[in-house]
This record gives sequence, C-alpha cells and structure tokens, in this order.
Amino acid sequence: MDKPLKILFATPEAVPFAKTGGLADVAGALPKSLQAMGCEVKIIMPYYRIVKGSGYPLQYLGVEIEVPIGDEKLKSDIYLSHLNQEIPVYFIGREEFFDREYLYSTPKGDYFDNAERFIFFSRAVLIFCQQMGFSPDIIHHHEWQTGLIPAYLKSIYLHDPVLAHTASVFTIHNLAYQGMFKKEKFSLTGLPTEMYNPEGIEFWERINFMKAGIVYAEVITTVSQKYSEEIQTPEYGYGLEGILRKRRENLFGILNGVDYGDWNPAHDPHLISRYDGNDLSGKRECKKDLLKEFHLPPSLEHVPLLGMISRLADQKGFDLLMEILDELFSLDLGFVLLGTGEQKYHDLFTRVAHQYPQKAGIRIAYDDQLAHKIEAGADLFLMPSKYEPCGLNQIYSLKYGTIPVVRATGGLDDTITPYNPTTKEGNGFKFNRYDAKEFLDAIKLAISYYSQTDHWKQLLRNAMTADFSWAKSAESYLQLYRKALEKKRGSISN
Ligand code: ADP
Repeated sequence: MDKPLKILFATPEAVPFAKTGGLADVAGALPKSLQAMGCEVKIIMPYYRIVKGSGYPLQYLGVEIEVPIGDEKLKSDIYLSHLNQEIPVYFIGREEFFDREYLYSTPKGDYFDNAERFIFFSRAVLIFCQQMGFSPDIIHHHEWQTGLIPAYLKSIYLHDPVLAHTASVFTIHNLAYQGMFKKEKFSLTGLPTEMYNPEGIEFWERINFMKAGIVYAEVITTVSQKYSEEIQTPEYGYGLEGILRKRRENLFGILNGVDYGDWNPAHDPHLISRYDGNDLSGKRECKKDLLKEFHLPPSLEHVPLLGMISRLADQKGFDLLMEILDELFSLDLGFVLLGTGEQKYHDLFTRVAHQYPQKAGIRIAYDDQLAHKIEAGADLFLMPSKYEPCGLNQIYSLKYGTIPVVRATGGLDDTITPYNPTTKEGNGFKFNRYDAKEFLDAIKLAISYYSQTDHWKQLLRNAMTADFSWAKSAESYLQLYRKALEKKRGSISN
C-alpha cells in the first residue's frame, strides 16, 4: 500500500478564517476530503486582522522565524488553529503586512506593497517547513500570491535537506489576477538573477508571480477542464497563453466540488420549508417566501421566477442582460437578483427595480441566507458569464432544482448539459457565443419547458440527482500529487 502523502496547503485565504472568493471554499473543503482519504494535511496562510478578530481558538506557537526580504531579515510570529478540529492551520504573522482591513485591496485599489507582502508569505512558508523539520511531499499552493514557491524550491531550496524532495502543485483559480509588479522588486525575492528572463518570472519587463507558478511548478491545475483549455488561447489567456501551452502536458483541470453539508435543500436551515426530489411541495413554499422577501406580487408564483446571485463584475455577463432587459420583462416572468460589486451595476439594477416593480426584485448586498433562499425559491438560475473558471452557483442550483441557463464557458460548460426532450437527458440550458440574442433565446427555450409538466419534472430529477461532491475531485488531486512526485523524483535522479 502507498504510504500516506504529506501535503501542505499554502493559500492566501481559506474558510472559515478569511474569504474573498471561491478559492477560500476550496481551501476550506478539499483538505478535509484529502485527510479522509488518508493524507496528512496541514494548511498555512497569512495572519490577517480578520483572523485575529475571528474568535476561533488561536495558539501562539512561540516560534519566531526570520524571512529575508532584499537585504533585510523580517521576523514573523506563527499561530495555530484547526480546521474541523483535526487539520492544523498555521498562520504567518507580521502586523506591518497583514494587520489590515482587507486582504489584498481596498475599494480604491490594490495595496501598494502586495509584492513585499506575498514575497514575504511565500518565503515564510518554506522557512517555516525548514525550522519545524516538516518535509511535505507536496506543497499545493494557490493563485499568484503563492506563485513564487516553486521558484524557491527550484533554486534556493534545491538541495535543502528538508525541502529537496518536495514537489509543487499550483492551482489557478482566476487567471485575470496575476500579481504583476515593477522589475525593481525582483531583488526583494532573493531568487537568482537568471530567473528574471522571459522564460522565467519576467513578463514584458515586469515580474509576474502567476507566471512563476506556471513556469516552475511540477504540475499546474485549474478548476475545470474547459477553463484549462480556454486559458491556452489569447481570448482567455491574458498574455500567459503561450507559456501555458508550453506546459500543457502538466496542466490539468479538476472541477471544484460542493459542500453538500451547506448546500442541500433537504436540511438547509435558511429555508422556510425543506424539500428533496421526492417531494417538491417545500420548494413551492420557498418560492412564495422569496416573493414575499422581495415584495413581489404573490401571483408571480405561477410564472417562472429567474434568479441571479453574483459579484456584480463585467466577468459575469451583465452587459448581455442589459441588452435584453426590455424584451425579458415583456415576458410573463419574475426576476430576483442578489449581488454587490461595481457601482455602474448598482446603478443599473436600482433603475431596473424602479422600472419593473411588479416583476423585478433587487438586493444590492452580500447576504448568505438570502443566497440560499434564492437557490431554493427560483425556477431558473442565470449565469451568462464571459468567462467562469468553475462557478459554484450553477452547481448549487442543480441540487435545489433550480434549472441553470448558462453560457458554455469554463466550469459552466463542464457541469451543464442542455436538456434533450427526446432522450430526456440534460440538466439545464446553454448558449455558446457571448451574444445577447443567444442568451435571450436560451431563456425563452427554458421557459417553454417550464409549462410542459412532464419535461420539467424530468429536468428537475436530472438536476437534483447530479453529484458534485468533493470525493471525486479529491481523488483526482491525489493522482496528480503522485504524478508531481514522480516528476520531482525524475528531476532529482537526472
Ligand atoms: P466567484 O468566485 O467568481 O465570485 P463562484 O460562483 O465560484 O463565483 O462563487 C461565488 C460564491 O459567492 C457562491 O457561493 C455565491 O453564492 C456567493 N455569493 C456571490 N455573491 C453573493 C452575494 N451578494 N451574497 C451572498 N453570496 C454571494
């Protein structure tokens, strides 16, 4: 039998400690599945202000590490907490860098010293391992904030007794955020100057931490198969498509799983009434409750109710929605949206609420409970994204019997299959081109099935029985960890 793998998760965020997006859900859930499969997992992340004030039990470890940044050596305190009471979570502390209101940026823009902050964190991860004598088989690290880790492993720590055998797996959750900085910051990394070249960390005379992860990790992953293909094209590659193509043999897509402990209408504490595929009467109660919540007319109970929960950002396809608003609201339907983000969209949806008070319910907020109520109370869920590395809401929607209408991109394409009335297969509706008319046609098609009871029941059955739990994805990661280790061993023996 294979011996248990020792895995260190190096991440800039993880639930329940700190979250800005889907990465935090992954970093809080995948370690649990891996541990259940027999791996020995530890997590390491920055000690942000929000962690300090979280109320979670935190132990000051009493060890201090020194992290070189340029000519200086900066001290760091280490704290320890646990995920699920069994997985150790180590926090790298340094007030000057992490005791701040936000994680990476304020509403005015990125923190000016993000390069220093995440050079410090990435280097600290490795010094922490050295000092604790912890020799992980794999460092699984995430996003640009940790992109330098494999560059260090391949240079400064190449012959280190603790880290020489450690392989790295780098996961890209969103290629649009790359961590690019002035080339003058390169000297702060302490990396050999040869690494500053177009085949390495340099990117058009700047340094790029995401690129470092892509170039130097043994294995690279993204959060869906389709996105791993898309990012190799100029349309989705943000300038890194060439380097990604070069590494395509080591680039894989693994779909994020869902934590059905949190997202299951059969035991969701946020709902007025619970339900499952055998008895949908609770879903009807949830729809009534949702209409009430948004002060919409109860008569909308009998027409399709369209839902959206989203960051209000260009990525999510709101320009398509804008183009079709008039025609959409000329149809017999209701619409509810929950979201926050860019001001232009706050303004747009405030206008929509005024213009269509009998049909549109808008809430500009971040509200977890309302998100659950929309998943349960809506009939259709709209995700017309321009790009979507994985997407979680469409997967939640399936479980809640809320049929997704999505654009065929990234994880949306991998999880949603168009309904076929002949074979009775499929779990949603999908359009291909980023085009408002295609989006509207897909919504109209979905609505046409809503009134055909047999087809609609079949669709709900297909959607609600789909299984996207973590176990399958965790198994795929395990295989990739073994592949990364083989690669590392191969590179040592050569
Ligand atoms: P992304 O990571 O691009 O924002 P995902 O679909 O992968 O998109 O994940 C978004 C997560 O954030 C989901 O769990 C979704 O329910 C939640 N979410 C997004 N906006 C809101 C909001 N305004 N209120 C509550 N939850 C939200």
